[in-house]
Amino acid sequence: MASEGRTKTGETILVVDDQEDNVELLRARLFARGYVVRIAMNGQQALDSVQEIAPDLILLDVMMPGMSGIEVVRRIKKDQNLPFIAVIMQTALDSTESRVEGLDAGADDYITKPINFAELEARVRSMLRIKRLQEELESRERELEEMNDRLRRVSQTDGLTGLDNRRYLEERLHEMFEHSLRLHEPLSVVMCDIDHFKSVNDTYGHLAGDAILRQFADLIKEQAREIDRVGRYGGEEFLIILPGTVLDAAVTFAGRVRDRIQAHEFVYEDERIRRTVSCGVAAWPHPLIASRDQLIRSADEALYVAKETGRDKVVRFDSDEFKTHCKPAELAEAGSPSS
Ligand code: GH3
Ligand code: MG
Ligand code: MG
Repeated sequence: MASEGRTKTGETILVVDDQEDNVELLRARLFARGYVVRIAMNGQQALDSVQEIAPDLILLDVMMPGMSGIEVVRRIKKDQNLPFIAVIMQTALDSTESRVEGLDAGADDYITKPINFAELEARVRSMLRIKRLQEELESRERELEEMNDRLRRVSQTDGLTGLDNRRYLEERLHEMFEHSLRLHEPLSVVMCDIDHFKSVNDTYGHLAGDAILRQFADLIKEQAREIDRVGRYGGEEFLIILPGTVLDAAVTFAGRVRDRIQAHEFVYEDERIRRTVSCGVAAWPHPLIASRDQLIRSADEALYVAKETGRDKVVRFDSDEFKTHCKPAELAEAGSPSS
């Protein structure tokens, strides 16, 4: 066997031709150059073979009985599931028409019969070079996309707890509020703040504080539904957005969060630490709430009242308790249009 000039490329070439002697000649020649050669004797066999082995390159005869080479290349290039496969058509010397048709159908290059093997090899090498470049490009694009995805996730996520960060949470709330206005669907928010959290840092250290924030985040996440958004709004302050939820149901939810935290023993190294949480709840629709900002501010004011009136509790915006303890100026502000 002629091993002269043979390179071990390992690249697979599918030779498609209905004439056996032609096939044999091409096979021997390409094999001698180190390519893995597969054969198909008609269009359908070629398509089957492409699905099976996804060759790097196809040497495709145009004139074949049954399905023509033009149809084969059209189908291959249309198939979004296939990687880039270089297609070199073999056309008759005098058939400009089929060359144009083949290139229009998606063929990458052509070679005329009778085949000049030096030219064929040069065209094969050039096409495989293009294929490698194409693959490199695709892999770079994939890397770039992954990188973008990662960046997007990072820019939306709070690094300590893995929850939505404040900016992302506000964007989501904006969308959800608009959606609620459009469909007149209720929307609630719960603002939670850990009670006397500063003393955790003071007593056990900042790392203990961090560990508790993470555990706290997991506990709220457990209480929330898939469609709710749970985020870290500030240091030890968390916001939960509850779409399609009326005020009563949101107060019940906040009550569950409060109970869960109260019953929980936070663990940091050998320490067992207990904390409580205060929650303020507000919902749209409400006569005093006309914007996303007013919704958040109302929940925040309810939270303030919860802190003022003893902590470890849930206060609902505009409830009797709220009205008794919220300063009139703040009430007025909550009712005024947002700037
Ligand atoms: P209150 O019951 O009134 O909410 O009291 P508090 O001590 O929880 O509230 P305060 O606002 O006085 O203190 C919040 C503390 O949270 C102060 C700050 O150092 C701490 N903190 C904020 N962010 C982080 C963080 O990422 N990690 C840790 N360990 N502590 C944080
Ligand atoms: Mg606090
Ligand atoms: Mg706070």
